[in-house]
Amino acid sequence: MLLKVLAVTLYVTCRQDTGAAAHYILFMRSPDQLLHPTPAGLYCPVGDFYIDPVRAVDRAVITHGHADHARAGHGAVLATPETINIMAARYGEDFTVRRQPTELGEVVSINGVDVSLAPAGHVLGSAQAVVEHRGLRMVCTGDYKRRQDPTCTPFEPVPCHVFISEATFALPVFRHPDDRDEIRKLLHSLTTFPDRAHLVGVYALGKAQRVISLIREAGYHDTIYIHGALKSLCDLYEDHGISLGKLEPATLEKGVAKEEQAKFAGKIVMGPPSAFRDKWARRFPDPITVFCSGWMRIRQRAKQSGVELPIILSDHADWDELTQTVRDVNPQELWVTHGREDALCRWAELDGYKARPLRLVGYDEDS
Ligand SMILES: [Zn+2]
Ligand SMILES: [Zn+2]
Repeated sequence: MLLKVLAVTLYVTCRQDTGAAAHYILFMRSPDQLLHPTPAGLYCPVGDFYIDPVRAVDRAVITHGHADHARAGHGAVLATPETINIMAARYGEDFTVRRQPTELGEVVSINGVDVSLAPAGHVLGSAQAVVEHRGLRMVCTGDYKRRQDPTCTPFEPVPCHVFISEATFALPVFRHPDDRDEIRKLLHSLTTFPDRAHLVGVYALGKAQRVISLIREAGYHDTIYIHGALKSLCDLYEDHGISLGKLEPATLEKGVAKEEQAKFAGKIVMGPPSAFRDKWARRFPDPITVFCSGWMRIRQRAKQSGVELPIILSDHADWDELTQTVRDVNPQELWVTHGREDALCRWAELDGYKARPLRLVGYDEDS
């Protein structure tokens, strides 16, 4: 037993050159005592709170506003002010009993456990949850990416003992191309097909605003028409200082005159993917369907969903970003959640990290 403790201490001190590392094992037998997976989500028994719970709980720490991470009905919600505003916009002002808006870097004590938020670079307001107790620091990323995104604060690696990473695109086949090149494809198509409306499928939170920003950065300043489902979140981004240029509603009533329809020819019309199955989409002149997602890397998937112009653009880290991030953070243990957990664990073990798939359920693949 003593030998084992000595070995662990030695391993820990070699792996991370801080006194804190060896310190924590004196107080805790395993990181599981600070955070562990439950059917409702990652739970901290010492602080009595959950991170991104998939069920209503008394106290939740929320990493970002996507619906599978941020649900309504909790007793208390700790999140960045932006995430709190996003939740209120989506669920109504009474989405939780108590709000605890917390700025990035601010430390809040929950029943003696220090909780803080660090930027995750995923969508506006997205954060990693940093949980610290008696010298043990665990970081849960929520969803993240490493690429520059004009609509949110970039990801910051936080040194920690246990790093809990998402794994949406954790297969070597997923390498997202340069987003500016992808946006150029869309703009090129507009000039090649000036008579056709370009219907661009985007998720309402994050993807829509990032795609609009990238289009503006590429020098396109014409009106962009948006489906009603995107409006409130575009307004919210504008309220947070992210300028999206001229947006107008993409409404086209049934039976409108040809001339009215014609105004969308050669224009960008954006909507959530669900709207593309509606009659709404068929009212536009000779539409080209475009879809912006990391999954567009799989040609089959694009074809099956009838996408003519797939744009590979994701708000999740690709394989290289995931593996680079693990090396940057250099934790003693890697825990992996939602996505290709086994692939990232296998890579981590080969790279010398102790790794564990968490098998949490209830998180979507693309948000
Ligand atoms: Zn997610
Ligand atoms: Zn997300």
